[in-house]
Amino acid sequence: MKKGLLIILSGPSGVGKGTIRRYIMEKFNFPLSYSISMTTRPQREKEVEGVDYYFVSNEEFQRNIDANNFLEWEEFVGNRYGTPKDKVEELRNQGKNVLLEIEVNGAGEVMSKIDDDRVISFFLMPPSIDALESRIRRRKTESEEIIQQRLNKGKKEMTMTAQYDYVILNDDVARASQEIVDLIKAKARKK
Ligand code: 5GP
Repeated sequence: MKKGLLIILSGPSGVGKGTIRRYIMEKFNFPLSYSISMTTRPQREKEVEGVDYYFVSNEEFQRNIDANNFLEWEEFVGNRYGTPKDKVEELRNQGKNVLLEIEVNGAGEVMSKIDDDRVISFFLMPPSIDALESRIRRRKTESEEIIQQRLNKGKKEMTMTAQYDYVILNDDVARASQEIVDLIKAKARKK
């Protein structure tokens, strides 16, 4: 059996990675498993434990680092986020395609660690900085200080796109999703 693809989706906070992921999983007939990360960030109102993230304390996150349970982990604007290692490998070994939605440093780490060629990576680009800022603000989940930190981090991330296979403009959810799915399908067909 062919190993499942590892699909990396990155892009600045607020660009719409989650929206694109949900759209792809709902509208396309393409089998995809989402890798649920662990985070120390406080849960947002609409988020569901074990669906959006595993929300844990700093102590629990540290225990998972010490036990070598992460494929990668990073600090992002004051909180820590990590990809559970065993789950990703288990799913891929069952032939399932696994999607990671992670920031740029973690993405770089995963790409350097995974030694098979069934990996495809995307950086989702906002149409403009203004569009990014208004999306973060519309979410109404962060304080002004955190919004500024996320925007600054996002601007830095947008200079680090060279490590990705594809940069996708998120000008329209349906169009960008279609572009991503077409590229994933082409990759999946390769030996
Ligand atoms: P948010 O707090 O907006 O949910 O996530 C902040 C950033 O962390 C986003 O860019 C998100 O994609 C990224 N992220 C989520 N999970 C992980 C993870 O497991 N590892 C890394 N490196 N980044 C993650």
